[in-house]
Amino acid sequence: MQSFIEVAPESHFPIQNLPFGVFRAGDGAPHAGIAIGDFVLDLTILEQAGHLGSQRAFAGGFLNAFMALGRAAWKHTREHLQHLLSADTPTLRDDADLRARVFHRQDEVTMLLPARIGDYTDFYSSFHHAHNVGTMLRGADKALMPNWKSLAVAYHGRASSIVVSPAEVRRPRGQIKPPDASAPIFAASRCLDFELETAFFVGPGNKRGEPIPIARAEDHIFGFVLMNDWSARDIQTWEYQPLGPFLAKNFCTSISPWIVTLDALEPFRKELPAQDPAPLSYLKRAADFTYDIQLEARLQTATMREAQAITRTNFRHLYWSAAQQLAHHTVNGCNLQPGDLLASGTISGPTEQSRGCMLELTWRGANPLRLNGGETRKWLEDNDTLTITGWCEGDGYRVGFGEVSGKIAPALES
Ligand code: MN
Repeated sequence: MQSFIEVAPESHFPIQNLPFGVFRAGDGAPHAGIAIGDFVLDLTILEQAGHLGSQRAFAGGFLNAFMALGRAAWKHTREHLQHLLSADTPTLRDDADLRARVFHRQDEVTMLLPARIGDYTDFYSSFHHAHNVGTMLRGADKALMPNWKSLAVAYHGRASSIVVSPAEVRRPRGQIKPPDASAPIFAASRCLDFELETAFFVGPGNKRGEPIPIARAEDHIFGFVLMNDWSARDIQTWEYQPLGPFLAKNFCTSISPWIVTLDALEPFRKELPAQDPAPLSYLKRAADFTYDIQLEARLQTATMREAQAITRTNFRHLYWSAAQQLAHHTVNGCNLQPGDLLASGTISGPTEQSRGCMLELTWRGANPLRLNGGETRKWLEDNDTLTITGWCEGDGYRVGFGEVSGKIAPALES
């Protein structure tokens, strides 16, 4: 498959990908688009010009309406866009006037949140992450809570503070109880962390009281983005019991702007790792699967000349599949809606070099990271930039996610 748009082999956005996003166009309005090479193809204009049928799915400035249409419409639209971008199709290729209206350079547009996110849930689905954190808190013999291998643990997060990359992240302030103090203090977090995650957008969703069976999960998963679940560990330590994360997490969550569809990820399917004990039947199906997505986090401090990779991991290390997360989330009748965001939880691999957050990489600050140029880091410091990237390696091409990046701004003065 080849496009008339030239795409470099290392580009994340070849014709095999075509991820969906929303950007601010020349007229100041939000438009829907897909990424192709260094360009954005403007779906809002393409639709107005009559090249995408008559559904008006891309008129609203958010992708929720398109997400609500479901798998058959997503697949049809994607195949039609691949056809329009193909080297053999003259419609766009030979119409300079239309091309000038529908193509923008990516570096000349501003990316926006792709959907109105009504609800956001963060799972805790990496065995290695849960085991490492549990080992720090309770010791290796009690690392996993008794429920962990029976159900996909999660908490309900905050949708209002989800931002699209790149975005500045202000260091939060809050209640902290230093280990040796008898009472809490109010201060800027000193233990600011990132969490390397992915997240998927919900498609049509379900009516309240009507769970989505695991066999139908892919009808309700529109696609994936990269996510950084910024976390203030010192605030978290003091506040999290008994109801879980609150102000330690809800000050900001960053996502990458381009949503990679399941159809684009299809060639990179992998068998889900074995689950022991076998889950209950509502979480089980023949040949459940995951994807081979390489993931990397890079840190750049104010004095470093270039960013340094501090961890490399893979989506396929997750214990619970996206289908299991979706089935579990709705099994009690909880209704999901188009544009809801369900995140994986920190994705850690089996090795020390594949841990997905500073908490694990430095073992709660005990083993600071040594960076090129001599600096060390226990946690993120002001003016550090943390970038997560991810891609699937195809034969001569990549299906990539772009990146999610954020720079730490100093806390507000008291
Ligand atoms: Mn998280």
